Amino acid sequence: MNPRLHISPIPAFQDNYIWAIHDDRHAAVVDPGDAVAVLDFLQQHQLTLTAILITHHHHDHVGGIAALLAHGAVPVYGPALEPIPHLSHPLREGQHIHLEALDADFQILDLPGHTLGHIAYYGINSAFCGDTLFGCGCGRLFEGTAAQMLNSLSKLARLPAATAVYCAHEYTLSNITFALTLEPDNLALQQRHTRDSDLRAHQQPTLPSTIAIELASNPFLRCHLPKLQHVFNTDNTLATFTAMRLLKDNF
Ligand SMILES: [Zn+2]
Repeated sequence: MNPRLHISPIPAFQDNYIWAIHDDRHAAVVDPGDAVAVLDFLQQHQLTLTAILITHHHHDHVGGIAALLAHGAVPVYGPALEPIPHLSHPLREGQHIHLEALDADFQILDLPGHTLGHIAYYGINSAFCGDTLFGCGCGRLFEGTAAQMLNSLSKLARLPAATAVYCAHEYTLSNITFALTLEPDNLALQQRHTRDSDLRAHQQPTLPSTIAIELASNPFLRCHLPKLQHVFNTDNTLATFTAMRLLKDNF
């Protein structure tokens, strides 16, 4: 792995993060919904764009692709199963990509649920998971079923515990507020609330988190636990997840 690699958030819109994977010369960006924010970042840090990585087709993730390509042709990686503008490298689970200029490798995971073709990029000890896993929460079910989303989240949950989790939105604090209604006595969740409230008070991102942090505090990864199943009066994981997602939709 390239020891000079950094991962920086480029804030966009209300609460999106476009993640820039870069060294001191080159950058790849994940889900560039806003080209202006990316171009400003590249110029400020004197970086050349070398690749665009897309997790799913929603406009706030793909809206900047055309304008970025107008500044120079670069490969556009994205889900094979979704209509991504200017997609040059359609990807599915089992494939790998190698970003030459950054000397970085990623493995592709299929994560249906939020959308049907949603993918994640796993590499450099990090997961770029778009709108599937959020800090202490998960994406809404716009296209897929609860069973698909639960399976996709389980895939992420099985990654090494130290994997850094780079989600596409800053939703963590409101997700923690919801999670505390389900597990008020969860110490890891209480500590996360304190730490992340402090970060947001100083305009800092709560991301990345890690798979270990999510396993300890994210209720959507904890639906197999009897204490959470008890909250929803069920004794199975899928029914708990389904009821939890529905409750969060209206929270
Ligand atoms: Zn989305």
